[in-house]
Amino acid sequence: MAKIVCVLYPDPIDGFPPEYARDTIPVLNSYPGGQTLPTPSSLDFRPGDLVGCVSGELGLRKFLEERGHTLVVTSDKEGPDSIFDRELADADVVISQPFWPAYLTAERIARAPKLKLALTAGIGSDHVDLDAAIARDITVAEETYSNSISVAEHAVMQILALVRNYLPSHQWAAQGGWNIADCVSHAYDIEGMDVGVIAAGRIGQAVLRRLAPFDVRLHYTDKRRLSPELEQELGLTFHPDARSLARAVDVVSIHAPLHPETRNLFNEELIGSMRRGSYIVNTARAQIVDRDAVVAALESGQLAGYAGDVWYPQPPAADHPWRTMPYNGMTPHVSGTTLSAQARYAAGTREILEAWLDGKPIRDEYLIVDGGKLAGAGAVAYTASQDAGNS
Ligand code: NDP
Repeated sequence: MAKIVCVLYPDPIDGFPPEYARDTIPVLNSYPGGQTLPTPSSLDFRPGDLVGCVSGELGLRKFLEERGHTLVVTSDKEGPDSIFDRELADADVVISQPFWPAYLTAERIARAPKLKLALTAGIGSDHVDLDAAIARDITVAEETYSNSISVAEHAVMQILALVRNYLPSHQWAAQGGWNIADCVSHAYDIEGMDVGVIAAGRIGQAVLRRLAPFDVRLHYTDKRRLSPELEQELGLTFHPDARSLARAVDVVSIHAPLHPETRNLFNEELIGSMRRGSYIVNTARAQIVDRDAVVAALESGQLAGYAGDVWYPQPPAADHPWRTMPYNGMTPHVSGTTLSAQARYAAGTREILEAWLDGKPIRDEYLIVDGGKLAGAGAVAYTASQDAGNS
């Protein structure tokens, strides 16, 4: 029988379950491109329920305990005395979410001799040291596509919020003011702007598609060029690298995985090469940008705004400078864990567990590491030796 240790974010401060705003979520038939939605044998939660927090347990307890497995769920993940560290010692499976990552460093993997499966509930497995997982033949898997559109919607929202100065304007309204000049002194339309994405994978392409109707000029860079048909349909300008894109746009939205090629990509020099008053939205991973270079650029006016939902570490300290830097539209790491997204990645987590516990193959598109090497989606998006344990 397997022991599954699941690290999830804490319950809402007003208690669990919350009062839901809606009774249902839309039923989707497939992901863009045709990938099928998760296919677990059944579900023990109502799609639209808060399953991503500790009491939600990803809807897994009944299913696992009926089969005789042990499920431990905790949000206590930091330090050697944490419940996560204690339970890790004899865990067969670890489940973690990028929003509240249980960093599976090489040291932790060394202290988990039975660990065979590291499952990400969501997308982005850079909180797992992939080299260490490869060396120990630990399978790493995630639910590809489960929250890609959720993140794309968040990125588009944050681009509009920054350029239109939405959050400070809302503040004026909420505090009883009518300070139109204060609101609009920093507000523009995105119409006519140059907007670019770093990486046009699932999320990057969805952002491009959603922005096209805004009559912006769209740019992208990626390791692989998109088809000429898609470039033409969306009016895309391709750039061979981030450097070329950064100086050609007013807004950058980052959608690349964190790996050695992208770590610290937006440093002082690259940000300095952008047009004065550019905007950066980063819903990919915090360490793709230089934390302090972003703060300095906002203070000098080189950047007119920075938003995103990814921080390092997570959760960040109360005095993390991104909480208070000027013209920021930061949120906690929420874009990929809407109630809509949770329904999909919790179902996908169960699908993967069902396959793994029954000794059946995990869908190729869910795999990051398998059989001692990068595999499936991971073989496409990641590079080994990514120093991920520190991310
Ligand atoms: P995909 O794998 O679909 O796309 C990633 C793209 O990045 C691929 O096209 C890849 O190219 C490209 N790429 C990789 N390295 C580079 C590079 N150095 N320069 C340019 N392009 C590069 O991933 P998704 O779109 O689904 O997700 C992207 C990232 O978003 C995830 O890795 C994760 O970190 C983050 N994410 C954040 C979430 C959130 O809640 N905020 C939720 C989900 C994901 P190629 O295919 O040729 O390797």
